[in-house]
Amino acid sequence: MSLAAILLGWFDVHGRRHLPTYQENDPYAIWVGEVLLQQTQLSRGLAYRQRFLATFPDLATLAQASEDAVQAVCAGIGYYGRIHRLHQAARQLRAQGGLPRDFAGWLEVPGVGRTTAAAIAVQAHGERQVVLDGNIQRLMARFHALDEPSHSAKGRAALWRLAEAHLPAVRLRDYTQALMDFGATWCLPRAPRCADCPLQAHCAARLRGAVAAYPVRIGKQPRKEQTMRLLLVYNEAGAVWLEPRPEPGIWAGLWSLPGQEHAQGQLAQELNDAPPRWQLRHLLTHRMLHIEVRVLHHRMRDASHPARWPGSTQGRWCDPTQLEVGVPAPIARILACWQEEPYAHGPLHQAEQGGPGVGQAAHGRTAGSENL
Ligand code: SF4
Repeated sequence: MSLAAILLGWFDVHGRRHLPTYQENDPYAIWVGEVLLQQTQLSRGLAYRQRFLATFPDLATLAQASEDAVQAVCAGIGYYGRIHRLHQAARQLRAQGGLPRDFAGWLEVPGVGRTTAAAIAVQAHGERQVVLDGNIQRLMARFHALDEPSHSAKGRAALWRLAEAHLPAVRLRDYTQALMDFGATWCLPRAPRCADCPLQAHCAARLRGAVAAYPVRIGKQPRKEQTMRLLLVYNEAGAVWLEPRPEPGIWAGLWSLPGQEHAQGQLAQELNDAPPRWQLRHLLTHRMLHIEVRVLHHRMRDASHPARWPGSTQGRWCDPTQLEVGVPAPIARILACWQEEPYAHGPLHQAEQGGPGVGQAAHGRTAGSENL
């Protein structure tokens, strides 16, 4: 029996047909779901997808929305560049007259790769295309005991060829979903369920007794370390100064606390001498970010202190309890810590001595670890 026939039989019993992503036919909703579920845990991604589609139900509403409004709906999801590209692409498609109607058209859309284009083409347009997400790559690499590293150009080309060779003549939509479901729930990265796997009699890695060796990986580069020094500037009204992050760069398009380098003169010296109030570690795709936060009270009524925080040309005072802009997850955590503190007044809120070390935030909160 072929791999497709076995997986379709498995799908009829174990497939996740209840998922809204499986039941969807609307290309716009499929596109949004594909983007939001990338690198994101399924339950979280589905929650974001639901909120996103409720706020921006079609291409027109998304194209007309501001970048801040779009990022605010996605705040906390991570990998914010994909949200920016989705929004930019929506504006471009709207200007061009609407959504593509086939695989080739979707491939032209900025930010849409071959797998996303294929997933939309199979599900919305009924086309015969190959989907090859990370779960399916792992399954194919094991099933064929592929000795080329999966992330190499040769390995990737081989995986596309193998995946294409398995396409069935019928039930392509179910088969595509079966591959994704099987990779996500059975042929797992660390503990694949080989003992009760319907493919075990045909799986080359299993037959070799070498499942753990597949997929073959290229040696990993050591992760870089980076320190980010931020200022939490607050005023008498309890508002916090936030400013948009520049593009390109970390958290581009989202709103964040200003960098400490914006403090000048005597103030800069005081801040440099003071230990940070909070220290967090935040895991990005290829970097470990060490975030230090110092706190500063800005007196608006003092003639020497204008209504704007003078340290930056962009930005505004924001109520941290009612944010209307998108902020990255670690900044949201810092603001939550801040709200638990009584607002102390003074030119410089003194940093706590002997506070928690790197990797742990004040007040016993452990720092998050989330991808960009
Ligand atoms: S036998 Fe194990 S490694 Fe092979 S496809 Fe099944 S779960 Fe994956």
